[in-house]
Amino acid sequence: MKRTIRELTDLHGQRALVRVDFNVPLDENKRITDDSRIRESLPTIRYLLERGARVILVSHLGRPKGQVNPEYSLKPVVDRLQELLPTVSVEKASAVFNTEVQVAAERMQPGSVLVLENVRFEPGEEKNDSELANKLASLADIYVNDAFGAAHRAHASTEGIAHFVKTSVAGLLMEKEINALSGLLQNPEKPFTAIIGGSKVSTKITVLETLLEKVNTLVIGGAMIFTFLKAQGFSVGQSKVEDDYLETANTLLTKAQEKGVSVLLPSDVVVADAFSNEANKEVIPVDKISEGWMGLDVGPDSIQKIAQVLAQSRTVLWNGPMGVFEFPNFAAGTEAVARTLAHLTKEETLKSVLGGGDTVAAIAQFGMSHEDFTHVSTGGGASLEFIEGKTLPGIAVLQDAETVRV
Ligand code: ADP
Ligand code: MG
Repeated sequence: MKRTIRELTDLHGQRALVRVDFNVPLDENKRITDDSRIRESLPTIRYLLERGARVILVSHLGRPKGQVNPEYSLKPVVDRLQELLPTVSVEKASAVFNTEVQVAAERMQPGSVLVLENVRFEPGEEKNDSELANKLASLADIYVNDAFGAAHRAHASTEGIAHFVKTSVAGLLMEKEINALSGLLQNPEKPFTAIIGGSKVSTKITVLETLLEKVNTLVIGGAMIFTFLKAQGFSVGQSKVEDDYLETANTLLTKAQEKGVSVLLPSDVVVADAFSNEANKEVIPVDKISEGWMGLDVGPDSIQKIAQVLAQSRTVLWNGPMGVFEFPNFAAGTEAVARTLAHLTKEETLKSVLGGGDTVAAIAQFGMSHEDFTHVSTGGGASLEFIEGKTLPGIAVLQDAETVRV
């Protein structure tokens, strides 16, 4: 376990540099379309402010590729943060680091917030440049990493900095993510079901293999099903397929059988005659896909079978949409899984953990909230790597929690 801010005793007047994940979606007018990432950071920020710390926030936003680009300024984020913390002084620094920023950090009052500019304006950020890491560290007495969504990257603000600050700890969101995901992997209540969907077998194969060691049932959805179906000898028409992964798909099915994991592939699919919301559509059994048609969602019979598995599960991990949920006409499978999971979570028959950028976007599209599930991970790639059992550099670099000696 990692040391967290809750183990720090005297925070008054301390400069806490907190790496947050404020990488929020913006519309063309630079308005934030979903501020959940900012709100998820509030418990840590408030915790520090209430104890009189001076809070310096650092985040990336989009991909400015190491250059100052006003398009990617954190200004809209700072404005939103000020709205969320109306009684706190929230200031935006003019840059990531320069003399002006140093002076501003120096002059901060306890209980106030300074937000540095987009850290990816600095070419050293993504290179994990030690000079930049050292500069950031010079602003802080304590380093707090609360950006779980960026923890799988070894960048100056997520990893390098910790080598230059004496106290490096996890924030409350980071702690919550680690606890939820490691609980899932270490002692999940059984039956444990994983629902893995999304667009590609190639991006999910490692997680699928890892999960074979843990789960009782593996439900496969999304475009991935067509790689599995083709590998099993079915025609898949124009459906999205990764031809390089046919053998991988078959090997996975064989391994599942050896390990006694039941794999649920859809029995029926919704096919379309074009990749469009307005395309003609039809529900057909998976062995009846004809040339010229493509599968864009799982069918009603499959949805019912998935619901039956979920009704008997105690723990469910869901990563990856069941179909092209961005097209409302092909969102039924994804929405059914979301609603069924929310219902069973509320009934307390299971614990539901969700991860994946598009999965979380789907939940929002259906007007559902994170509170409808046991845990919704804020990290897309990071949550996958965590589940795969990889070491995330932004977590590994933090101090270990004090072990109690008797
Ligand atoms: P996540 O971000 O939740 O991990 P992925 O990035 O793996 O999910 O996949 C999400 C994408 O998969 C979505 O954009 C969705 O439209 C696409 N997808 C799902 N099913 C299909 C399908 N049958 N055909 C084409 N694309 C699909
Ligand atoms: Mg995605």
